[in-house]
Amino acid sequence: MAKGRILISSRIVGTTVTDPILMLEAEGFLVVKHPLVASGKSLNANELQPLVQGIDGMIVGEDEVSRQVIEGADRLRVISKSGVGVDQIDIRAATERGIVVTNTPGANANAVADLTFGLILSIARRIPFSHIATRQAKWAKFTGAEIWQKTIGIVGVGEIGKAVARRALGFQMRILGYDTYQDHALAQEVGLRYVPLQTVFQEADIVTLHVPLSKVTQGMVTRDHFRMMKKTAYLINTARGGLMRGEDLYDALVHGELAGAALDVYETEPPIDNPLLTLDNVVTTSHIGALTWESMQNMGRMAAKNVIDVLHGRRPAHAVNPEVFTGV
Ligand code: NAD
Repeated sequence: MAKGRILISSRIVGTTVTDPILMLEAEGFLVVKHPLVASGKSLNANELQPLVQGIDGMIVGEDEVSRQVIEGADRLRVISKSGVGVDQIDIRAATERGIVVTNTPGANANAVADLTFGLILSIARRIPFSHIATRQAKWAKFTGAEIWQKTIGIVGVGEIGKAVARRALGFQMRILGYDTYQDHALAQEVGLRYVPLQTVFQEADIVTLHVPLSKVTQGMVTRDHFRMMKKTAYLINTARGGLMRGEDLYDALVHGELAGAALDVYETEPPIDNPLLTLDNVVTTSHIGALTWESMQNMGRMAAKNVIDVLHGRRPAHAVNPEVFTGV
């Protein structure tokens, strides 16, 4: 008899990456993967709710694990996010019911940092626009900016921000950082200087966002910040769309307050009828930051290990609400 039933709603676990399934099965768990998941779409709360009955643990991606889903689960003990951002999981509801929420910090840092530099170079050198024109048999010329020895401002110097800083070192960039927590060893390693948020926006040629979305950070980048930017500067957002209002960025770009933006994330995803997508100084990708083979393997394995640890009564390496373990 199975030791427990594990629902997989993460799109990558069991499709792109199979190790986590093998890990769970080797520990005697029965893995349940809903057909909707194979469609490549994240599940909303209404789709997820009927699937959680009789489930002991779940591995989720960007799916909406709302209070309604959590309260509808009769046996659930662990919600394991394959990824870092847990803003789509109702942590409070989970904690109230003694359900452990885990994530996979650092597993995708190199992937997101690589994409960040891809986006920086794409917007600065206008690579996607040249690509499109060339494919359309238009031999158009695009002049861009160099990033060598420019100033980069990293908002949120956590796992991803640090990986970005290490890459910036290779471009001999001056590195500014803003974070509520200051890592002095990292600062010394890469020559990063911690400054107020305002200074990042005033002095950086490239501002790149890497803070999580929370009640505190929602809307933390305002129209005033864009007004402070150099007119030649670029904004990169591979963190979360909700860190700013898209219409503020749109207005700032239209008024030439900054030179361009590159976005992997949006307030609403997918970004249908988003006016930012109509601008020729905006490069867009489809929330692909974490999607490398290496990162998916790391995330999937860490997510499975977190489930196994919790269901075996062991403290997982990465609990978001570790207080749930009190007294165990
Ligand atoms: P992390 O927890 O290692 O780092 C976040 C940093 O932000 C920490 O250093 C923290 O101190 C800082 N921070 C938090 N609140 C702050 C505030 N109010 N002001 C200043 N600093 C604050 O997380 P990470 O692994 O670096 O990931 C960062 C975010 O990137 C995730 O939360 C997620 O939303 C996003 N992300 C996006 C993708 C993607 O596919 N585009 C993939 C992974 C992560």
